[in-house]
Amino acid sequence: MKNFDCVVVGGGMVGAASALALAQLGLTVALVEQYEPKSFEKEQKLDLRVSAISLASQYLLEQLSAWSQVMKWRACSYKRLGVWEQEYAYTEFNANDIEQSHLGHIVENRLLQLSLWEQINLQNNIEVFCPERLISLSQNTDKATLVLENSSLMAKLVIAADGANSHVRQLVNIGITSWDYQQSAMLINVKTQQPQQDITWQQYLPTGPVAFLPLSKSSVSVSVENSLEQSEQGGYASLVWYHQRDEIKRLSVLSNQKLQQEVLAVFPKRLGGVEVLDKGAFPLTRRHANTYQKNRVLLLGDAAHTINPMAGQGVNLGFKDVKALQTVISNAIAHGECWHEENVLARYEMMRRKDNLLMQSTMDVLYHAFSHPSPLIKTLRNASLLAVSKVPVLNSAIKNKALAYACGI
Ligand SMILES: Cc1cc2nc3c(=O)[nH]c(=O)nc-3n(C[C@H](O)[C@H](O)[C@H](O)COP(=O)(O)OP(=O)(O)OC[C@H]3O[C@@H](n4cnc5c(N)ncnc54)[C@H](O)[C@@H]3O)c2cc1C
Repeated sequence: MKNFDCVVVGGGMVGAASALALAQLGLTVALVEQYEPKSFEKEQKLDLRVSAISLASQYLLEQLSAWSQVMKWRACSYKRLGVWEQEYAYTEFNANDIEQSHLGHIVENRLLQLSLWEQINLQNNIEVFCPERLISLSQNTDKATLVLENSSLMAKLVIAADGANSHVRQLVNIGITSWDYQQSAMLINVKTQQPQQDITWQQYLPTGPVAFLPLSKSSVSVSVENSLEQSEQGGYASLVWYHQRDEIKRLSVLSNQKLQQEVLAVFPKRLGGVEVLDKGAFPLTRRHANTYQKNRVLLLGDAAHTINPMAGQGVNLGFKDVKALQTVISNAIAHGECWHEENVLARYEMMRRKDNLLMQSTMDVLYHAFSHPSPLIKTLRNASLLAVSKVPVLNSAIKNKALAYACGI
């Protein structure tokens, strides 16, 4: 049986980042993942699963040396964020307002995971077990034992980063509170007639929001020549269409050409012409684990919490979990404490639960406020957006604070 300081179950974006963050502290780490990420080919099609990576997440990924590779492959930075329901109340957030060059990047999940794995493969204190699956887990006072399909591991700390339906969470009997939003999200990758955009926008329709996330098929530091070439050819984008589940089911089985017609009929005119390249649907569920800790097992990322993706915060919360865990353990080591004592590990949940709950609740308030059919509420929400956009004192008091919060700074 192999012995490690930490075993991380799940090598997605959050699990891979936590393995690197723990290895940076000098700990020995095992990473257990069922599927190996595919390598990158320049011509590979744009992945459907993309994330808006906040500034705070970018800083963590830089610290883990995984950011520059993503930039070399492909990513799209954005510096503006447009939100509206009625055109007259259009509100735009700009990176300049918070003295930043950009608000974030839209990155394909698969590339982010792959870049983290490339760094993992360079560390001699991380051993990867892949393809491998967790079968069972038991704990006693000083260690946890994990039985995998092909081997067995022992560790002082187990990180559950195995996603929304976490097997580890179920094995250690941590319950969740959850509810369905009664909506699904359809992700649609398109080629746009308009050149590459530096804005991400979201319009609230009575049936749910429709959103535009700019994508790029080239690296961020493209030459002027390349970017001109791209602008002549148009850009790429990920569209997100939130709607009732039945409607998303209906849209999912349409041909790309038919879906394109429906997109053009429903999305705002500012989208311009598009060609649908790829599509997929995802149900929306909010989940929150009742506790993030069971003895020496800690939950991180989607294993601990999932939220409405309306504001693109899911994996950003997961990266904040990683940063908090690294801080807790590094402080304990610096103060000569036993870093894997249960009461030391408990500090991780104290740092993260309130913040995750606040973001989940903010998304719920937005979801309910913007889906309420009452004409009075509709007038109020548009008036609020207009006021935040046009009244200078509200502008700096609310708008810029909200923006900094969304960027995680
Ligand atoms: C429609 C949609 C849009 C989104 N947009 C955004 C966005 O713009 N910005 C954002 O921040 N977030 C967004 N999110 C959320 C984001 O995708 C998730 O928060 C993120 O993928 C969670 O990462 P994770 O590593 O915690 O989990 P996962 O990505 O689910 O990774 C879990 C990993 O564990 C592995 N695994 C599972 N079980 C086992 C096992 N038993 N043994 C071994 N390995 C196992 C899996 O193979 C997988 O690799 C969106 C979500 C949805 C549904």
